[in-house]
Amino acid sequence: MKFICIGRNYADHIAELKNERNEDPVVFLKPDTALLRDNEPFYLPDFSKDVHHEVEVLLKINKEGKYIDRQFAPKYYDEVGLGIDFTARDLQARQKAKGLPWEIAKAFNGAAVVGQFVPKTRYPDLGALDFSLQVNGQVRQAGHTSYMLFDFDTIIAYVSQFFTLKKGDIIFTGTPAGVAAVQAGDQLTGYIGQEKFFDFAIK
Ligand code: MG
Repeated sequence: MKFICIGRNYADHIAELKNERNEDPVVFLKPDTALLRDNEPFYLPDFSKDVHHEVEVLLKINKEGKYIDRQFAPKYYDEVGLGIDFTARDLQARQKAKGLPWEIAKAFNGAAVVGQFVPKTRYPDLGALDFSLQVNGQVRQAGHTSYMLFDFDTIIAYVSQFFTLKKGDIIFTGTPAGVAAVQAGDQLTGYIGQEKFFDFAIK
């Protein structure tokens, strides 16, 4: 499986990193080795001094498809979840400054935290999900999917032009503002609405 990730999908986060708003979604991939699940601890890597949390709503692809028309996109995912797109911000800044790819800052081992998934039918409107990240019990990021620049179906249609989606692939749909560095000893807890989707420690 692969992770397909969307960058710069919330205007408040684009502003906090002083990025430009793109006409098309910003897309990057993570390999399956980036997966961290079952609330296992995240071990801070030696190569970064500034690993940021980015809480994101996840979509799980349920069948193979490419060149998916936006109107048919909902047929390709039936579960939603919540995760963290861990980002070595110091490495990313260095790569961006040189115009180089981001993978070493985004796709390293453990950089794709995946919490539980639930049927999308649980929610009457996927464009109106409240989600949040607490660090040590304090809310650090709070988002609402109505603020996405590109909605779930637009994302599926866009990325499936380039990459064949396969059953089990997971899409990270972008982070709202509030990203910050994690420290050893932190406890990260993610919610959609009042429901807990993940709860794990930084070591
Ligand atoms: Mg992200």
